[in-house]
This record gives sequence, structure tokens and C-alpha cells, in this order.
Amino acid sequence: MTKIESVETYVLRVPLAKPVADSIYYREFWNIPVTEIRTADGLVGTGYSGVWTGEDLLVEAVDAHLAGLVIGKDAELIGELWRSLYWSPPHWVGRAGVVHMAQGMIDIALWDLAAQRAGMPLWQLLGGSHSSLATYNTNGGWLNFTVEELITDITGMIESGWSKVKMKVGGADPRNDLDRVRQVRAAIGADVTLMVDVNQRWDLIRAKEMARELVDFGVSWVEEPLRPDDIAGHAELVRHSSIPIALGENLYNIDAFAGFLAAGAVDIVQVDVTRVAGITEWLRIAQLAAGLGRWVVPHAGDMMQLHQHLVAGIGADTPAMIEYLPWGLEAFREPVKLVADRIILPDTPGASSAIAPEARRRWGSKR
Ligand code: MG
Repeated sequence: MTKIESVETYVLRVPLAKPVADSIYYREFWNIPVTEIRTADGLVGTGYSGVWTGEDLLVEAVDAHLAGLVIGKDAELIGELWRSLYWSPPHWVGRAGVVHMAQGMIDIALWDLAAQRAGMPLWQLLGGSHSSLATYNTNGGWLNFTVEELITDITGMIESGWSKVKMKVGGADPRNDLDRVRQVRAAIGADVTLMVDVNQRWDLIRAKEMARELVDFGVSWVEEPLRPDDIAGHAELVRHSSIPIALGENLYNIDAFAGFLAAGAVDIVQVDVTRVAGITEWLRIAQLAAGLGRWVVPHAGDMMQLHQHLVAGIGADTPAMIEYLPWGLEAFREPVKLVADRIILPDTPGASSAIAPEARRRWGSKR
């Protein structure tokens, strides 16, 4: 028994190096709502999410509804606490979304504690054997960049060592999208892996047309082409498109993923540990997807801190790769360690979720 003594929350509002836009949002900050759980053995586990907005709702859900349900309980019983939070009264108003994500912040803190107690990094506790992971770079290719900026940005990534990059599409004019992809492909050459991310902005007719057109530019996957809940539309697109379809950053629980998988509506599963209910649910979804032969390449909502452990830990046969997006890395006590385009896995006990004290002083507040 390792008794949970306290649950504390706060928010970090971290400025981005430069403002970015995809087909839906333009933003200058990345917000990190944090939950710290202290146990009777003197350890502190850290859980968090990452959001453009709604960080106040997440910490309120923890403070007002969930913290009281875990204080005094045994931090070692992660599965039991997950189940009891899932079936707790706020279930009525949030089996996916705010309450579920807030539950995830607690679950992540409990896994961080478990790895600290075990004296090993989480990826080792999960049974992983990789010592490094490939990444693809998504920290560029934004829709608010001119074509010249876009090309400078993406060729800069390649000069820094990346061989896999992603760019945004989904602008108002699809011909403009195709022209940008064409110019980027011409600039980077045939050997670089290039993915495109629509951020949900196409309808099925446009998505089918674009999936045909994009074949000419050697696109390796089309990400979030349609509204994120449209299972039937994505299933038809998967059948139609020779390019794999990636999605999952806007699916919030295992039932949503199970629906997509059962319908054959997704090829690349981008489950994000900060959007579902933590590591417990992430592992279930990833094993389900991998068991059905899909690639699991998580969305970087956690800024890679947690996913490095999880991707290494599940031991999938399919490519062990994660999305590189370095926003807010200064927030963490031990930011991911990158050599060229590979993440070198940490050997510090825990889940790499601990917040740097200096970051809390600079960017932290109660809400
Ligand atoms: Mg995306």
C-alpha cells in the first residue's frame, strides 16, 4: 500500500517560438494543465495534458470532482483507480473529453509514480527493449507560412537530420494545397518521406479527389481528412485511397478507436495519451490497434515526453516511430533527448513527466 496523500493542480502557459496555424487554429501559446500526486513514501508523480484552450476546465475537473476520490487510496492499484474514476459520478457528463482527460492526468501521475517506485524508466517497466526511436518532424509546414517559408522550414529539417516530415494542407483552395505539396516535394527530392495533415477540413468528395491527386507527390499518409467522428466516411475513404489514412488525435476513448478499427476506417492509429484517459487507456488502444495490424504512431500532444516510453514499451513489430513537435519542452525537468532524428530513451526512473521548477515559476498559475 502506497497511500495517496495529496493531489495538486496548476497550469503552464508556454509561449511558442513562433505563431502557427493549421486549417482550424492559429495560436501563440501551448497550455499544459498539470496534476501532481504526492504519496506517503515521499514521491511525487506528475500527470498532465496539453491543450490550446480549456486547461481551466481540466484542472477544475480534477480539483472539484476527481481528486477527492483518490486521496487516501493505494497509488499502486492503477487499474482499480482507473475503473473507479471511470464509473464515478462525473461519468454522466464526460465519458470522453474534459472529465475523461482529467482522469488521464491522474492516471499518468500514477504510472509516473509506479516507474519511480520500480526505480526504472517507464519504457523499461512496460517491458520495452528499444534504446532509441525514429521520429518524423511535424514542427513545420504550417498553413500560415508562405511557400518560400515552408520550403525553407522543411529543407532546414532535412539539413538537421530528418528524413520524414509532415506538412499542413486543408486550406480554402485545394489547388493551392496541391501546389504547395508539389513545390515541397520538388524541393526535398524523392527520398524524403512526406505526410500531409488536413486537420479535418475536407468532405468525402474532396478527400477522394485529393487522395487521387496526392499519389503523384509520393505522400505517405493523409492525416485527419474528415470530421473526426465520421466513421463511415473514413471507411469509404480507406477503401478508395491508395494512400494510408491516419487519425486518432481527436478520438477520446477506446470505444471511438474500436469503432474505427471495426469499420476498417483507419490505417495509422495516432492515439494521444493526453486526450484519452491516460496511460492505462492508451495501452489498451495501442494493443488493440497493433493486434489488428495497424501502425501506432501517436500524436505529439504530450510533446513526446510520455509517448517515447509508450511506443518503446509496447514492443510492436510495426515501425516504432513518434511525431516530433518540440513545443514547450522547456517545461519539463528532463526534456526528450534528440540525436539527429532519433530520440534516445531516458534512463531516469519515472515517465519523464516532471515539470521543471523554473518553468513553473515562469509560466505557472493556478488556472
Ligand atoms: Mg495532426
